[in-house]
Amino acid sequence: MIVGVLVELANKTLDRIFDYKVDDNIKNDIKIGIRVEVPFGKQTLEGFVLHIKDYSDVDNLKSVIRVIDSDVVLNKELIELGKVMKENTLATLISCYQVMLPRALKAKKKNNITKKYDTYYKLVKNIDYKFNLSQQKIIDCFNNNPLVKRDELLKISPSSLKTLVNKKILVEEKIEHYRIEYNKKNSNIKVLTPTQEKVVEEVNLNRSDVYLLHGVTGSGKTEVYIKLISKVISNGKTAIMLVPEISLTPQMISRFSEVFGSRIAAIHSALSEGEKYDEWRRINRGEADIVIGARSAIFAPLNNLGIIIIDEEHSDSYKQDTNPRYNAKDIAIVRSKTNNCPVVMGSATPSLEAFARAKKGVYKLLSMPNRINGKDLPDVTLIDMNIEAKKSKLHISTPLLNSIKEVIDNNNQVILLLNRRGYSSFVTCKNCGYTFKCPNCDITLTYHKTSNTLRCHYCGYGTKVYKECPECHEEAVSNLGVGTEKIEEELKELVPNAKVLRMDFDTTSRKGMHEKMISSFKKHEYDILLGTQIVAKGLDFENVTLVGVINADTSLNIPDFRSSENTFSLLSQVSGRSGRSNKKGNVIIQTFNPEHYAIKYTKTHDYIGFYNHEMTIRKALKYPPYYYICYLKISSKDYDIASIEANKIKKSLERNLKNTIILGPSVANIFKMNNIYRYGIILKYKYEENLYKTLNILVEHYRNNNKVNIDIDFNPNHF
Ligand code: ADP
Ligand code: ZN
Repeated sequence: MIVGVLVELANKTLDRIFDYKVDDNIKNDIKIGIRVEVPFGKQTLEGFVLHIKDYSDVDNLKSVIRVIDSDVVLNKELIELGKVMKENTLATLISCYQVMLPRALKAKKKNNITKKYDTYYKLVKNIDYKFNLSQQKIIDCFNNNPLVKRDELLKISPSSLKTLVNKKILVEEKIEHYRIEYNKKNSNIKVLTPTQEKVVEEVNLNRSDVYLLHGVTGSGKTEVYIKLISKVISNGKTAIMLVPEISLTPQMISRFSEVFGSRIAAIHSALSEGEKYDEWRRINRGEADIVIGARSAIFAPLNNLGIIIIDEEHSDSYKQDTNPRYNAKDIAIVRSKTNNCPVVMGSATPSLEAFARAKKGVYKLLSMPNRINGKDLPDVTLIDMNIEAKKSKLHISTPLLNSIKEVIDNNNQVILLLNRRGYSSFVTCKNCGYTFKCPNCDITLTYHKTSNTLRCHYCGYGTKVYKECPECHEEAVSNLGVGTEKIEEELKELVPNAKVLRMDFDTTSRKGMHEKMISSFKKHEYDILLGTQIVAKGLDFENVTLVGVINADTSLNIPDFRSSENTFSLLSQVSGRSGRSNKKGNVIIQTFNPEHYAIKYTKTHDYIGFYNHEMTIRKALKYPPYYYICYLKISSKDYDIASIEANKIKKSLERNLKNTIILGPSVANIFKMNNIYRYGIILKYKYEENLYKTLNILVEHYRNNNKVNIDIDFNPNHF
């Protein structure tokens, strides 16, 4: 017997399958998709068995050292999926498989994640022995149970237990226990409204269609997902539900375990590696049939998949920003075809790509335009900070302050968002809010401290920074931002009686803090929840009647063609936290750009209006969804080599890609990082027959070059 084994080497030069002999004594343990240990040069490596055969073209094969797994780690579907991923991302095949697995199951030496066991005892029959009182008590425990846990027997008498074990009257047995347990509460599924019911009915569970559920905040999307999943489960099939990491709160998981009990498994970053290992094996063994998790849960080894749901479809967290650069939405579509089951993507503010596909009929559009039970969306007021900033140096304007006071006096709660996205790298006029944009690409220029210049990261355009603002002619240009601590101080001064809970990366980094804060705010132990993006998503608090946005503009200024889309989406999401119960909600947005369309359309909750406006811009500037984008990053420790190779690559691309717009090379967003210089080339194309072939040749060409590294990112989030 010969096996083909895919191994991982730190060196990028190898992404090949190597043949090994299998000795007779381990023949029966070999299966496709398990891990084995093999000799490789002077070292030993772990790898995945991908082929079993009788014959090899190679002479003098070495033998497999040992078999690592008893259960298959990569099932047939995952093995095929890895090949498709490799083709679509141009990453190595081994990296595609490794990313599918929890650390404990990757083909990597030296991981010491093990199973957890409980110690039990078993009573040996036909004993002839005179027990004392406490010994008898221990023996009686076995009257109804063949196995009793060590802890229980210890409680009776440690010394008697020891005696019984020494006399071999009790024998030890180790039984694995999973690190996570789910409480079955069996709460009922809510009775759906006619709108929700209609959406559920429209989803055909026996076809691999993609649906886009466009439902405003508070329209009851979660209950639609739950109903769809319960239908799938009652057909004997399984389900994956993806949510962005940030909305994977314990509340969400407990809502699912209430309905579905211990048949769920959760996969997310707050779990320890041991917990991930256990959850993964429960899924692999068919002990769980609903997987809820962040991006990587799309690889859950479920059999007989009946639906894939992707909540908050617009979230950029579904794309992995390191190799392999896959998008969980693309993987979902591949798996839905393999399993002949639907994908349902939901959002209040769908990505432009998804909505455009829905309008063209590529995806099926489902729509829930109203909040549950006819509740109104909140009223949105825009505060023009160009005027307010002249009256006061404070970051909280008078109208916002007055509303905060009023809400707190009425014993309701407030959420305040400090929009910090991309916040220190651009330059703005503190007087009028003017930001510098590239004349060619219409994106914000990024500030480079060392050279005191502003640069465009798309085309390379550059200009010096002047103190004087070209718009209002005040000497007020600076790159200063404001943090949550500063706002917290201001609140203490302005509303001294309010209890403020600050939630940002600093205060939530400790395990469990995020959850604790949410539940104490829910219990109304605080009046104001102040935070960054973390407070914008998915939260459902019934007493929140005011949402305030301190600075709507920061996310408009990131050098990214999606900055308007991201801003509209963020403002809509955070607005959606207000007035979710029977109380009327309000939203107050402070902005220097009250006329900007991304902000104006938030006021009227007009997604379609925003979509139409943004699409005309995307069309004019040849951005997605009209064009695809692919980003090439060329990096080297040597400044000259990076620049020379980047220009060479551009020339070769120009020769081979006749239907592609090629921009750059320009300095990458973070040009010099860890002393590595990075250049970027942007490709824009609608249809380019030669694209994958050409890029693949490029990747192969640089594979053995240890001076230059090239990285390819299709449909990138950032560049
Ligand atoms: P979305 O995800 O669309 O923002 P949610 O699923 O969080 O909305 O639902 C908003 C609120 O409405 C939640 O408090 C939820 O419990 C409630 N809800 C949803 N569907 C129903 C229903 N059919 N009957 C009663 N309440 C519902
Ligand atoms: Zn430019």
